[in-house]
Amino acid sequence: MTSEDRAAALRLLQKEASECTRCRLHERRTTVVFGDGNPDAELMFIGEGPGQHEDEQGLPFVGRSGQLLSTLLERVGLSRPEVYIANVVKCRPPGNRDPREDEIASCKGYLVEQIKLVDPAAVVTLGNFSTKLLLKTQVGITRMRGQAYPWWGRHVVPTFHPAAALRNGPRVVDEMVSDLQLATRIIAERPSVVEPGPPVQPEQIELFK
Ligand code: SF4
Repeated sequence: MTSEDRAAALRLLQKEASECTRCRLHERRTTVVFGDGNPDAELMFIGEGPGQHEDEQGLPFVGRSGQLLSTLLERVGLSRPEVYIANVVKCRPPGNRDPREDEIASCKGYLVEQIKLVDPAAVVTLGNFSTKLLLKTQVGITRMRGQAYPWWGRHVVPTFHPAAALRNGPRVVDEMVSDLQLATRIIAERPSVVEPGPPVQPEQIELFK
């Protein structure tokens, strides 16, 4: 797929999501926060769901968490326009509660399509929520982080959510930088280190089951 095809497919998917009423989260959203970034990114971030600022602006990670994420990227020699950022659910859960199982089930098709289209070498899951969803684990982020997990022809690199770093200070920031450095090494070595995964097919909707 060419870069233009990929960008066009993402735009189409975003248009579809912008009118989505598949789950109750559509009722109180201001905007659908589809995702943002480089359609050809080798590094993709997956958060949990939009917060208040994201809901208002229609972009992921635009508040203090977003500023920290940009700073972390700079520390590993990357910039935000180089990466792609999405969330597990595209509409803000009221009061920033956790997304519910039926809401995730309704929304995950968008995320699967985004991963397929962007086709990154490394997916960094931000916090417990996306880590548990992708890796089907109940192990907490503190134990999961610091390693890369082969996943469908690429690697998942779990790390803390930036909000955790804002709450807990420099130690967590340093651990996030270390995790991002691991992700950048994976990107640099992609052809030699990534285990061949199953072919990417539309039925990858099954990925998260
Ligand atoms: S959260 Fe996802 S499935 Fe639910 S309404 Fe928003 S876009 Fe649709």
